[in-house]
Amino acid sequence: MIYLDAASTSGYRDIDDIIVDVMTKAMREYWLNPSSLYAENTKKKIERCRVNISEFIGAKSNEVYFTSGASESNNWAIRGWVDEVLSDSYKAANIITTPIEHKSILEAVQNKSLSAHIRYCKVDKFGIIDYSSLKNLLWMHENEPILVSIGMANNEIGALQDIKEISNLVHSYGGVLHVDATQAFGHIPIDVNELGIDLMSASGHKISPVLKGVGFLYKRNDVNIQPLIYGAQENGLRGGTENTFGIIGLSKAIEYCNISQQNIDEMCKKRDYFIELLKSKFSCKLNGHNEYRLPNNINVTFPQNITGESLLYTLDMSGFQISTGSACNSKSIAPSYVLKAIGLSDEQAMKTVRFTLTDGITYGEIDYVIEEIDKAIKIIEV
Ligand code: PMP
Repeated sequence: MIYLDAASTSGYRDIDDIIVDVMTKAMREYWLNPSSLYAENTKKKIERCRVNISEFIGAKSNEVYFTSGASESNNWAIRGWVDEVLSDSYKAANIITTPIEHKSILEAVQNKSLSAHIRYCKVDKFGIIDYSSLKNLLWMHENEPILVSIGMANNEIGALQDIKEISNLVHSYGGVLHVDATQAFGHIPIDVNELGIDLMSASGHKISPVLKGVGFLYKRNDVNIQPLIYGAQENGLRGGTENTFGIIGLSKAIEYCNISQQNIDEMCKKRDYFIELLKSKFSCKLNGHNEYRLPNNINVTFPQNITGESLLYTLDMSGFQISTGSACNSKSIAPSYVLKAIGLSDEQAMKTVRFTLTDGITYGEIDYVIEEIDKAIKIIEV
């Protein structure tokens, strides 16, 4: 099996065994309810994990709030900010986002019960923010409460935004910046202060597949939001008994995140080698940006008479997992809204697939995948 769908959930590597062991041990050791007065050790363990994770992103420990994952963090950032603005008796809350965000953002902002004006900032044909569009939208709402919610790395086409540039712009108009860093966290270095991020969502299972159902929201201390889930935990901002084992696993997993420049360069080389083969052998067209792209993301459109879905199923039968878009939309038969937003036709979008690599993939494995794609295309085209 060669797993090429790490954006959907991280591929299982040897080091994930260590995370499993740490979590299994924690289940025996730290099973008390952390809120119980006698569970001092469990509470302390969670707080040590919070310190580790906050240091990893350059934050203070009381700025990290554990959640069930990035969908919750995204919903919380949006809804919590709007509720806070409205409770402060402001007249209107304004949200600026883009048409290529994850569904947990788009559906949260499109929900009719959300009392906010929603504006969409344009993206270019590579999926990169159009700064003049953003500037114009910010200018329209200057002196009003504005939340800008932008993904650091797009989950389908891997486009990487210049968050520093965006935060400078957003802050110059008095806005608050929420960044959905789900696909970037643990894959590229993130320092929330250097980048000027006010709110940031992250998820455990994009760095280790055993970390489903755990993530966090980073919230800068001077940004206020209301809870999404009411209750006593997480400083009264996120109710629910803590996922102790997930939190301990997440804190361990960040030790193995390969975000050193050397590892990133190595992954980019493998990605570019794969892309070149796809272009030269099959005349594929790369979607997303050449340079501003996640180190492990490849998204290509095939010119052959095949659909991404037929390629996916044919490769799956030979033990290769790929994706036609994001796993969250995999049940949808409609062409990807992300690909449509960057200008692909319905037909091109249907002929598109995504390969997302896991650390440790070898050049030999990439060659092998290319051979299997060749065979699969021949089978499908008959
Ligand atoms: N945002 C992005 C960009 C994602 O890729 C995902 C996961 N596909 C999410 C949010 C949701 O993450 P989770 O699975 O932790 O809810």
